[in-house]
Amino acid sequence: MKPLYKRVILKLSGEALAGDKGFGLDEQTVVDVASQVKELVGMGVEVGVVVGGGNFWRGRSGGGMDRSTADHMGMLATVINSLAMQDAIEGLGLPTRVMSAIEMRQIAEPYIRRRAVRHLEKGRVVIFAAGTGNPYFSTDTTAALRAAEIEAEVILLAKKVDGVYDSDPMVNKSAVKIDALSYIDVLNRGLGVMDSTALTLCMDNNIPILVFGLKETHNIIKVCCGENLGTIIKE
Ligand code: UDP
Repeated sequence: MKPLYKRVILKLSGEALAGDKGFGLDEQTVVDVASQVKELVGMGVEVGVVVGGGNFWRGRSGGGMDRSTADHMGMLATVINSLAMQDAIEGLGLPTRVMSAIEMRQIAEPYIRRRAVRHLEKGRVVIFAAGTGNPYFSTDTTAALRAAEIEAEVILLAKKVDGVYDSDPMVNKSAVKIDALSYIDVLNRGLGVMDSTALTLCMDNNIPILVFGLKETHNIIKVCCGENLGTIIKE
């Protein structure tokens, strides 16, 4: 297998990192992702990782809380996941840097685009923590933004569900998986794969999104080598 891309953003949803536990981190899943990242880097791919936080907290779970405060909590959740990913990847002997959009210098470097690119060029995995650093955004938007900034060729969107369906497969048992979609289709049909801010950022910058399930081992490698396991979203 040969990778199609030189530089990618791998977006891991918090939910996917929780595995079957549904909350927190599933160690086996984290280690499995780490070993696939190591394999990808070994194949010559530069990998930037954006992790979600939904396995701990989402801004919209805040109920009556102030939204910005609830979102700050969500961004901190992504830092927990980022450190877990760093630990697992470094445990396999691959150097990493966690770069945080919110300064916390005791545990992560501040995000500086040029430095991130330099790390990637040196074969280090860069884990982008704390989302965009702004409330009212998502880690999908972070993935789109960082992909545009570092000129990644594609976003590998790893989820709990294995692609985009015409209706919610968790609710509707006869939901049908869609192989390919345009950005506009996703927006017009209101398919809940990504929020519209993230999607339009990908559309405006022509960044393809490969949606797939994290559950089966080796999926990250397969998708990066051109297998369409889930759904491809592009122009
Ligand atoms: N978040 C934010 N700004 C960002 C990225 C994330 O406020 O730029 C907060 C937001 O509250 C979000 C939470 O962090 O709900 C966790 O991120 P997300 O829901 O995207 O995680 P995922 O669904 O991928 O696990």
